Amino acid sequence: MSNTFKALGTPVGNLNLSNGGTDVFFDVLTLAGCALAESAWESNLVLLFADGHRIGRGTDGFDLNELPWTANWPAEKAFLLRVVDLAMTRHGWDLLAYQPPFAPDYLRRYRAMVDGWRAPIPVRTPATRPDWTVPPPPEYLERCPKHALYNGMLGCRLCDLTIQPLPE
Ligand SMILES: [Zn+2]
Repeated sequence: MSNTFKALGTPVGNLNLSNGGTDVFFDVLTLAGCALAESAWESNLVLLFADGHRIGRGTDGFDLNELPWTANWPAEKAFLLRVVDLAMTRHGWDLLAYQPPFAPDYLRRYRAMVDGWRAPIPVRTPATRPDWTVPPPPEYLERCPKHALYNGMLGCRLCDLTIQPLPE
């Protein structure tokens, strides 16, 4: 099983990750995102990573265009790039219970995709888009005392032993 991350409109190809690779990808994005998110939209984006690939194994890739961008999307895209950039500095990786040897490559490729993506374009979405200008439930933003990550809907992802990836 694998997950495909797309950015229709970018000249860069898709990012296909194994299930284990997807867990790593969301771990490092959550570590960086929880350190940066301020606005409601930003918190909702980081919750997508924090709760990502916890239930729908192998179906949790997404096209960037499926996200609920607002008229303020250039700033929202800039925030996503800041999250990726901070992740590329290995922010919080000392909290991981494993070595992520391929994560720098995932992040470098994803950064190129996001950076090359020019603007949101209409795509068919699997469900009604949520409104990310509405703040998430406060309990979702409570943080794990051990990892300082959002608890999200499903609890801190680094405390969830069922998704800790096998060494690659
Ligand atoms: Zn934790």
